[in-house]
Amino acid sequence: MSGIRIARFGGFVNAYLVDEDDGMTLIDTTFGRGAAKVILAQARRPIVRIILTHAHQDHVGGLDALAAQLPDAEVLMSARDARLMAGDNSPEPGEPNGDKIRGYGADTKPTRTIAPGERVGSLEVVAAPGHTPGQLVFLDTRDRTLFAADAYTTLGGVATTAKPNPRFPLPAMSTWHRPTALETARNLRALNPARLAAGHGKVVENPGAAMDAAIAKAS
Ligand SMILES: [Zn+2]
Repeated sequence: MSGIRIARFGGFVNAYLVDEDDGMTLIDTTFGRGAAKVILAQARRPIVRIILTHAHQDHVGGLDALAAQLPDAEVLMSARDARLMAGDNSPEPGEPNGDKIRGYGADTKPTRTIAPGERVGSLEVVAAPGHTPGQLVFLDTRDRTLFAADAYTTLGGVATTAKPNPRFPLPAMSTWHRPTALETARNLRALNPARLAAGHGKVVENPGAAMDAAIAKAS
């Protein structure tokens, strides 16, 4: 993996620092007091951009403190979840009627929104709706690491968020639309990632078979 996992609260939630030519890209911010301090302490080089996978508290909670200390860093996320982060929980026309559509507010606004198919440094932006309507995940084109946000979790075993994993049910419980999450899990499996770097749990090498099993469990 071209970067490091920053695990907080005993591995409950992760951020990732990814190496790029111009500095480091931070994927997600974790949350709680000390998030910024812990992340900045682990950055070997300047953090030049912050990407947010989705607008849930455990991923964007550290954003305001980090942005205050990194005034020149870009802040990137999907337009859809930027709306959630700004406090607008209304559905979009044509969107399925999900169980929970609630973002976590932050004062910081993205400097730019990003969309599937774009590249951010070495990372390909991939659509991953379901957990939230606008969740994005990132495929590192150098080594096929999939930064999977909460499309998959690996805490308590590899699981989708389309069905609660009894050993770690929280991410599925807070998932907006489970059928969409399952479709996303299938689409991400088809990318054949070499490594699964999820929002919760350890990095899993050669995750194909475990992803298949997780999809089967949720189908
Ligand atoms: Zn999460």
